[in-house]
Amino acid sequence: MRRRVAVVGGGIAGLVAAWDLVRGGCAVTLLEAGPRPGGAIGTHRLGGVEVDAGAESFATRSAAVPRLIGELGLQDSVIAPHPSGAWLQLPDLAAPLPATGILGIPADPLAADVVRIIGAEAAARAAADREMPVDAWRGREDITVGELVLDRMGPAVLEKLVTPIVSGVHSARPEQLDAGNAAPGLVEAMLREGSLAGAVASVKAQAPAGAAVNSLHGGLSTLIRALDEALRAQGAEIRLGERVTDLPALLSAHDHVVLAVDAPAALRLLEPVAPQASAQHDTGQHDTGQHDDGTPGEPAASRAGRGVALVSLLLDAPELDARPRGTGMLVAPGVDGVGAKAMTHVSSKWPWVAEALGPGRHLVRLSYGRVTDVPGTGALGLESTDELLLAAARADVAALFELPRLREQVLEADVVRWEKALPQASAGHARRIRGLREELADSAVSVVGSWFAGTGLARVVPDARRAAAEILAT
Ligand SMILES: Cc1cc2nc3c(=O)[nH]c(=O)nc-3n(C[C@H](O)[C@H](O)[C@H](O)COP(=O)(O)OP(=O)(O)OC[C@H]3O[C@@H](n4cnc5c(N)ncnc54)[C@H](O)[C@@H]3O)c2cc1C
Repeated sequence: MRRRVAVVGGGIAGLVAAWDLVRGGCAVTLLEAGPRPGGAIGTHRLGGVEVDAGAESFATRSAAVPRLIGELGLQDSVIAPHPSGAWLQLPDLAAPLPATGILGIPADPLAADVVRIIGAEAAARAAADREMPVDAWRGREDITVGELVLDRMGPAVLEKLVTPIVSGVHSARPEQLDAGNAAPGLVEAMLREGSLAGAVASVKAQAPAGAAVNSLHGGLSTLIRALDEALRAQGAEIRLGERVTDLPALLSAHDHVVLAVDAPAALRLLEPVAPQASAQHDTGQHDTGQHDDGTPGEPAASRAGRGVALVSLLLDAPELDARPRGTGMLVAPGVDGVGAKAMTHVSSKWPWVAEALGPGRHLVRLSYGRVTDVPGTGALGLESTDELLLAAARADVAALFELPRLREQVLEADVVRWEKALPQASAGHARRIRGLREELADSAVSVVGSWFAGTGLARVVPDARRAAAEILAT
């Protein structure tokens, strides 16, 4: 008899695991709580064009996503972003992001594009990293990006380069972000190379040539559609609108269960199966939040500081054809009059979008919600009303492009909220994950997904495939 495997969660992790399992001969049922597969990869329509509403690209440092794309026959649809690159908005300056860096940490602190942002004195302090011994970092676990950068390169690199990138791209605070998780291999390279700058250069040198991220013509959701079709063609059963609440019950009807859900959902489901490890993760009180179907909400602690509200604006603005801010901007905290933490100039970054929208039309996407925001202080984010977000987005787009008229040139707008799809890997995360993996090692439950593997497709896809291979090997 074929092994019966239930996959809970139809984001990219669940879909990829299901795809390998069904091809490995399992009878796969995928249960997704929402009305569509894809999770954090979804679409919305502006100007008559369907564009990505969540994740829009994949990191090219891993071959895992391109390999998957190839297996699905989509290799000819792979596209690189426009090479103009992103900019940084600081309180007193807007400038292109330095060309060579990881998480904003420069490979050469004395490079002109770095000095322009942090100043000559701070650059000299950062360059002292090359002379300082690294031995104090040997054997250390749970190193945060913030402490590492502050010690090696000083406060200006941390505040002006690393914080805007880490908060804008990773929705995290450098002081809380696990260095091993956010930049795999960086600490090891520092110990080997003798400096943080040397480590950045060495890790960058190992990355494949070309853009750091790519996408697909038609958007990243093309990948979800292809996986969905391929799974159905292989005979997998995909059940939408099915929120799983009882893991033991599911286990009694299947030989194996793959949990591919967000962290709070996974920990709640795991409670009866792996009480020890799941308790270590669950540090908060349960709040009064409930899902629509009445199942309990998630721990309060895990609700805080996560999630973003994205405001997309379709503009009639031929003056943006020249890409005055490259492919978009990361905004440092403390920029007067700007509430957004990042702005993607979507139609600049992805030329197929510009082509589909037509001449003079532009699409920008602004993100709101910093991890440093204190609830109740009026900072814009996930909880803000559409009205407030839309007003802020109009003002911000005008301020960031330094084109006041833009606020009047909005043709269409849309607000999308992502509550759970950006888990933060705080220090100690890797250790807790190892504990949970050990506790589940001989069980009929596997856990995949971004809270387990790290944020982003380049992490999630290979991890889901590894889990599927392990199941098939037993
Ligand atoms: C706005 C945004 C932009 C991003 N941009 C990028 C990017 O450009 N590049 C990149 O690589 N990464 C990006 N990411 C991160 C990336 O999208 C995620 O790391 C990845 O998609 C997570 O996939 P997942 O399958 O682990 O989780 P999810 O996509 O969150 O999927 C989990 C699924 O589980 C379902 N579920 C939850 N509970 C249950 C239950 N009890 N029963 C059944 N189903 C359940 C949910 O409905 C959901 O569909 C972005 C994320 C966001 C939010």
